[in-house]
Amino acid sequence: MRIILSNPRGFCAGVHMAVDVVDQLIGLCKDEPIYVYHEIVHNKHVVQRFIDRGAVFVEDLNEVPEGSIVVFSAHGVSPAVRELARQRRFTAVDATCPLVTKVHSEAVRYARQGYQILLVGHADHQEIIGTRGEAPDATQVVECPEDIPGLEIKDPNKLVYLTQTTLSTDDAAVIIDALKRAFPNIKEPPGSDICYATTNRQHAVRQIAPECDLVLVVGSKNSSNSLRLTEISQNVGVKAFLLDDVTELRDEWFDGTPGRGRDAAVMLTAGASAPEDLVAEICRTLMRRYGGTIEQRDVVPEDVEFGLPSTLKKIMRDKGLDPEGCKIRVGNWKITQEVYGAVPLTVSAKS
Ligand code: SF4
Repeated sequence: MRIILSNPRGFCAGVHMAVDVVDQLIGLCKDEPIYVYHEIVHNKHVVQRFIDRGAVFVEDLNEVPEGSIVVFSAHGVSPAVRELARQRRFTAVDATCPLVTKVHSEAVRYARQGYQILLVGHADHQEIIGTRGEAPDATQVVECPEDIPGLEIKDPNKLVYLTQTTLSTDDAAVIIDALKRAFPNIKEPPGSDICYATTNRQHAVRQIAPECDLVLVVGSKNSSNSLRLTEISQNVGVKAFLLDDVTELRDEWFDGTPGRGRDAAVMLTAGASAPEDLVAEICRTLMRRYGGTIEQRDVVPEDVEFGLPSTLKKIMRDKGLDPEGCKIRVGNWKITQEVYGAVPLTVSAKS
């Protein structure tokens, strides 16, 4: 088997920051439980590892005792949730990804300027629920072009569209084209709302999948950006499977590939919330079962930094720690023999 390991893959800067927030709080506040509103990121292993260390995940803030420390997940929350947290005297640590916060700010600004907002995304996703909550009276969610005839538009010259950060760039383009055809004067956001990590991981699939027999995406079923990676692969004609971890790997997936897997080319990538150790474990297992080589394909360089939330910095200072310089820096992954096993490893760049 020839495994082509996509780079970039896995954790983005926003997920790294959110995971680091919970990790730091568990370490700092040993005498009290850390509550997390919604899954901190959409990955069952990340969540379970924190549950095992004592974190409490809740879907309703009313379940949380007054005055507790509560972390808001990377997907962001609405102002109503922030207000409830204030009323209940929580110490709220906001781990919302700054790139989601950017879309919230756009929604607030355009609503103040009298625009109606057409928010392209999945209506039941936490991120869309949070963004919509910034301007609920001015916002309508558009999930697909078929939603457009049902929109209630007051003034077609005072419209703007925004998007969820983790959409398929292909699907978003189709919806945005349809919006522009229906409302030629619709305003665009200042820059793409689909984030760098989503864009880069999808771009890598479009580049690498066509030379493969199969694509494996490591990620959870409720991870929007992971699901989109499987769809992008299928769009370029290559079968793709989403798996949470090595236990979900199925031999029958390789039945139709050359040598029933032994001579197959397999792309391995991971959604933005999937930990790297799970990717490495799948690699090692594939090597044991089928033999072969691992090639890391560097497609897009990444080097993004986010700062820690101010509330966490204050907690660190109160505990006598210096949070300055604590930036979460995320670049591309390096593959090493220790992590991936004693198999031939190579790194190559894709133009
Ligand atoms: S996928 Fe994008 S928007 Fe979501 S946490 Fe990562 S960088 Fe932020």
